[in-house]
Amino acid sequence: MAKELYIDLSRCQGHARCWAIAPETFGIDDEGYAYVIEGREGSYDEENVRKAIRNCPERSILIRETEESQ
Ligand code: SF4
Repeated sequence: MAKELYIDLSRCQGHARCWAIAPETFGIDDEGYAYVIEGREGSYDEENVRKAIRNCPERSILIRETEESQ
């Protein structure tokens, strides 16, 4: 099992704090909501990604287990 970072868009309110803290991992789409940049899904354990997770007011940056190994 691998782990993967993702955004729960039902919670995200678009403050862009995640992008301000970890711009190499999070992007903001045309509607102002966050997404995980392609290829960065495995970065959940990096220091500034952890900081972004802690600082998301909506708790919308989550980690899930996937079937595929990375
Ligand atoms: S900080 Fe959280 S709520 Fe704000 S844009 Fe990022 S994921 Fe969405």
